[in-house]
Amino acid sequence: MSGTLFVIATPIGNLKDITLRALETLKQVDLIACEDTRHTQKLLSHYQIQRPLTSLFEHNERLKVPALVRQLQEGKTVGLVSDAGTPGISDPGFVLIREAIQNEIPVVPIPGPSAIITALIVSGMPTDRFCFEGFLPQKSAAMRRKLEELKNEPRTLIFYESPHRVLKTLQAMLELWGDIPIVCARELTKLHEEILRKPISQQITHLQKNTPRGEFVLVVNLRQKE
Ligand code: SAM
Repeated sequence: MSGTLFVIATPIGNLKDITLRALETLKQVDLIACEDTRHTQKLLSHYQIQRPLTSLFEHNERLKVPALVRQLQEGKTVGLVSDAGTPGISDPGFVLIREAIQNEIPVVPIPGPSAIITALIVSGMPTDRFCFEGFLPQKSAAMRRKLEELKNEPRTLIFYESPHRVLKTLQAMLELWGDIPIVCARELTKLHEEILRKPISQQITHLQKNTPRGEFVLVVNLRQKE
């Protein structure tokens, strides 16, 4: 009898954003595979959950997956979480999930927060069709190529961005796409949550006056001119 891999979404900021099912599952699994054991420990301590933790991050994922799959095959239940939001979404998890599926181990989703949907639903941009682009390439030329490629995309676009790169990204968008409206959603669900809907040039001015802090999601629709 093989065990089960539970893919569990956790908060993207506000610790109350966790489902009853996620808490129940975290309490019951034999082992929790997480990106950063100290980070997940804080969440578990908040909810008085004590379970064994093992780290699973980008650079050890391929190395650790075979042992985790073995434990699942031996009948253990494993909960997979990331530092924030939904595992596998710009976060580790894909390799373990794919291997579990290939080994016919049941994979059960425990849905919950993700910054993609959280930002999209309050953006005021069309939500009927959207396209998640994750993080843009780090190198300037590759980023600009990607933005050029997306120029005719009719669906609402969603990007993840860091505070260190957001200005550079907005400047490239302004140059390649013109001064269209964009939504900068920062620190979602946290104390300093800010959702600004303005033309790109005004977002740039705002961030030049207020040093970018925290995590950003950018939401834009290239068909939306105002
Ligand atoms: N797995 C996560 C999810 O489901 O959203 C995403 C992890 S990815 C490494 C981290 C990026 O997600 C951040 O750089 C930021 O772009 C976005 N993000 C995560 N939490 C956020 C928040 N509270 N507010 C705004 N953006 C956030």
